[in-house]
Amino acid sequence: MNNVAVAAAHAQAKLGCERVLIIDWDAHHGNGTQDIFWADSDVLFFDTHCAAPFYPGSGLIEEVGVGLGEGYTINVPLPETAGDIAFEKVFRDILVPAAEHFKPDLVLVSAGFDPHRNDMAMNLTYDGFKVLTRIVQDIADTHCEGKLAFVLSGGWVQPFLAGQRCSRGA
Ligand SMILES: [Zn+2]
Repeated sequence: MNNVAVAAAHAQAKLGCERVLIIDWDAHHGNGTQDIFWADSDVLFFDTHCAAPFYPGSGLIEEVGVGLGEGYTINVPLPETAGDIAFEKVFRDILVPAAEHFKPDLVLVSAGFDPHRNDMAMNLTYDGFKVLTRIVQDIADTHCEGKLAFVLSGGWVQPFLAGQRCSRGA
């Protein structure tokens, strides 16, 4: 179950939201979320993830969506050693201007915590997560009166199960 994607679709169908920003900072690439909104210009999908080794094998910077959705998928692969400063720079220099352009009326975060230095070692600290959270809160405050939800999620699908639409995220 990709609960962030379900939440985004529900917000659009039932809650009057038109433009949903999904931020995925889980260390795995959110290939499931990306697939669902690949051709959708009403959902901006922004994903930072571990570049080496790539898992589940997608999330190249060239993957930007297709058709009307071209430019509404933003992949930022980062090295395992990225750390707080690199993450902050990516969020400030790429995510914030993208959000400025997109003007979301809802912000959802696939908030997997495996980039933490004690987990998959993308070298984020608790303070790093705090900084990213502040940036995300500022985006929500600026564009959509603070409408923001964090979901413990990875947004990805195991490749050998992808054809069965059976997903998990961690
Ligand atoms: Zn993960």
